[in-house]
Amino acid sequence: MSSKPNPFAIAQQQLDDAAAILGLSPAMHAFLRVPMREYHFSIPVQMDDGSYQVFQGFRVQYNDARGPAKGGIRFHPDETIDTVRALAAWMTWKTAVVDIPLGGGKGGVICSPKNMSREELERLSRGYMRRLAHLIGPEKDVPAPDVNTTPEIMAWMLDEYETITGRHLPGVITGKPVPLFGSLGRSDATARGGIYTVREAAKMLGIELEGAPVAIQGFGNVGGWAGILCHQMGMKVIAVSDETGGLYNPHGLNIPALAKHVQQHPKRWIEGYTEPGAERIPKEEGGKVLELPVTVLFPAALENVITQENADRIQAKIVAELANGPTTPEADRVLYEKGIYVIPDFLCNAGGVTVSYFEQVQNAYNFYWPAEEVVKRLDERMTTAFHAVHEMAQRRKVHNRLAAYLVAVQRVAEAVALRGWVK
Ligand code: NAD
Repeated sequence: MSSKPNPFAIAQQQLDDAAAILGLSPAMHAFLRVPMREYHFSIPVQMDDGSYQVFQGFRVQYNDARGPAKGGIRFHPDETIDTVRALAAWMTWKTAVVDIPLGGGKGGVICSPKNMSREELERLSRGYMRRLAHLIGPEKDVPAPDVNTTPEIMAWMLDEYETITGRHLPGVITGKPVPLFGSLGRSDATARGGIYTVREAAKMLGIELEGAPVAIQGFGNVGGWAGILCHQMGMKVIAVSDETGGLYNPHGLNIPALAKHVQQHPKRWIEGYTEPGAERIPKEEGGKVLELPVTVLFPAALENVITQENADRIQAKIVAELANGPTTPEADRVLYEKGIYVIPDFLCNAGGVTVSYFEQVQNAYNFYWPAEEVVKRLDERMTTAFHAVHEMAQRRKVHNRLAAYLVAVQRVAEAVALRGWVK
């Protein structure tokens, strides 16, 4: 009964809605509906026991009219080409909505990284880069971390790329460790950018954030930092969840203690954490975290978690989509009708790619900025992008996701037309 929605079909449907309002020509619409290029490849890896496994890898360069393709690489057992296509499309709209001179791309490998040793992961990461090295570069396509890929993995990939090309080119990949040409402020950039958009939304809606209850689904890189930053801002994180289940404390969870526990957990899970007053939510009921009466809900895990099935039970005032694609189009309409203010994914989580862009700029200049400069520039970009979308939504009387599409698609279509690819 509950067949999983296809994220790429959703991405195309969202584009179709924007294309109709913008009056894109049929050719422009058709061009923007599909990736410009995609690569499928196999990566043989020797495992620690001496056996070999062959992994399936993908890289999609969705659109590079506004600059080199840009987007992360996911390692996930459920990875599919359609997920990668959807994420690459969303990267195209994301770089356009924050107006940075980059296009959109994405990569992935079907694998179970949590069941692989560090050495096996290194061999897989280097193998992925061997397949891709001649297809990417600072002026072509620039990968970055995403689900289950880390700065350490970016360092291995950079090293493999530089070994193959025989050149020092740190701008080929972003999200690198700071001592290896990474940018200060990259690790928390996605969450921080999202928090800036929440701050602006709260101003527009007249909502006080001090002491406001918050729920976060996913406590990994993005969700974990969102928790820490909300806590620092004086918000009350009452519930979090990850793939092992959830935690609920109506008086507010002790986020620094929880973050420390997750940091020290071998699989970076909240499992095993206890504190007085906190109740454990079993794994099969983890979705309850989405349905609490909070001021801000941060979906920060995977796609398709707010659907037609549960949208009516969402009680948050603001849904700040740090994850990519957490809300299906049917659910979007329900949330809009309920008056819930959704900050759409490719706006809300654009802080990561924005600081990735700053990282590339610093790599190109070989000159590195202090953290304050990164944070200040991130705030400027996110705030400007938020208001462009908010104003578009007001003017066109559409929901925020469609407004974000209108802003972004118009910019990409303009670049495509100026290049003379399609009129
Ligand atoms: P991550 O792997 O560090 O964390 C993912 C978290 O989600 C983990 O805590 C995991 O346990 C949890 N999770 C998985 N399945 C779950 C489930 N069914 N219920 C509840 N929790 C579940 O990944 P991340 O980098 O934090 O990315 C999270 C989301 O943010 C993804 O959608 C990603 O595409 C998006 N995103 C990440 C970045 C970035 O900079 N890392 C940038 C933009 C968008």
